[in-house]
Amino acid sequence: MGCTTALELARRGASVAVVEKGAPASGSTGRSSAIVRQHYSNEITARMARYGLEVFTDFEDRVGGPCGFDPCGFLVLVPAADEAGLRANVALQRSVGIDTRVLDPDEIGEVLPGVAAADLVAAAWEPGAGYADPHLTTSSVLAAARRLGARIHVNREVTGVRFRGGRVAGVDTPRGPIHAGAVVNCAGPWGARVAAMAGLRVPIDPCRAQLAVFARPEGQRGRHPVVLDFVHASYFRPETGGLMLVGLIDPSEAEDVVDPDDYAEHTDEGYELVVGERWIQRCPGMEAAQPRRGYAGLYAITPDWHPVIDEVPAGSGHFVCSGFSGHGFKLSPAVGLMTAQMILGEAPTFDPRVFRLSRWSEGQPVRGRYEYSITG
Ligand SMILES: Cc1cc2nc3c(=O)[nH]c(=O)nc-3n(C[C@H](O)[C@H](O)[C@H](O)COP(=O)(O)OP(=O)(O)OC[C@H]3O[C@@H](n4cnc5c(N)ncnc54)[C@H](O)[C@@H]3O)c2cc1C
Repeated sequence: MGCTTALELARRGASVAVVEKGAPASGSTGRSSAIVRQHYSNEITARMARYGLEVFTDFEDRVGGPCGFDPCGFLVLVPAADEAGLRANVALQRSVGIDTRVLDPDEIGEVLPGVAAADLVAAAWEPGAGYADPHLTTSSVLAAARRLGARIHVNREVTGVRFRGGRVAGVDTPRGPIHAGAVVNCAGPWGARVAAMAGLRVPIDPCRAQLAVFARPEGQRGRHPVVLDFVHASYFRPETGGLMLVGLIDPSEAEDVVDPDDYAEHTDEGYELVVGERWIQRCPGMEAAQPRRGYAGLYAITPDWHPVIDEVPAGSGHFVCSGFSGHGFKLSPAVGLMTAQMILGEAPTFDPRVFRLSRWSEGQPVRGRYEYSITG
């Protein structure tokens, strides 16, 4: 979020610096599955995701450099009880121009050969969606921002946020202050900590999310779509080298709150068995897959699983853009645009008010119209 915000600001001629305490993509982004899908159940995130897919599809021209995007297609499988919700979500997505449709059970095998589909009544399919490489994406966005004059400070931690007369004045770092008329907190899982430096309480929990890695069996390493299987509460997406990443769709991940600077970065004992069984129930042909070492990353979870994108306090020049709760990668092109437009007072392409910090105290959290688990 910091990199796409910097790119959009630099495109508009603003003087901008990215201040990163580690290396680029060393937070959530570097461990992201980086699935770029548009299947959302509210209009604004669906529109933001559609914009994101346009950017990833045309990345070389729109940003420059590689992002590793593979438009392998994206499939959503839901239990029969959610069929009406699935159809309504697809109708909403189509109404905002998203290329998606409902598949009947006999069509599911055409896009996912070998699928065990006896329990399925319908699925949603996005032919142009897929996944990207989060490291390549981040370095290409940073390179593009740098070409336009942005300064990139790595291994430089923000330790304080300065205000003067009710306006933000810059940030403190161990190598001295950086003065700025606007500061954007894009600290992801560290978002609440950085907000506290500005005297704010922002409800973002850093939570551990695991991913298993499998080598697919010989003969099963061909092109494969990304699949979100709500029946088995799991998802799987291909990875280069004949691998498959498999994770859970599990709201209880919000309870695994950790110290973002000190958490278990590998999968728990037995995790591969749990997720592997769910995957093989859906794709029996993968039974001979071999587990490889998995890993864990950080979700930055808010009470409604949607981010805070807001200027707080209003008129202060201090912005929060954090808390993407496990689904922010695909939204990052739209978010960079939104944040830059807020800072510069431009008319918003995507209205950020729905993501205001005060929505919880006002009793107006972000809600999808039909939500199965945590699609957003
Ligand atoms: C396992 C996993 C799978 C995921 N899968 C998907 C997916 O398939 N699709 C999708 O859209 N999203 C996915 N996500 C979510 C997505 O990756 C995140 O929402 C997104 O990467 C968040 O980006 P960010 O810039 O907000 O945070 P981050 O990438 O965490 O960046 C925040 C940065 O701030 C830096 N920082 C923190 N504190 C300071 C400080 N004091 N001073 C300076 N720098 C600081 C950190 O070092 C870090 O680099 C997944 C996440 C995980 C963990």
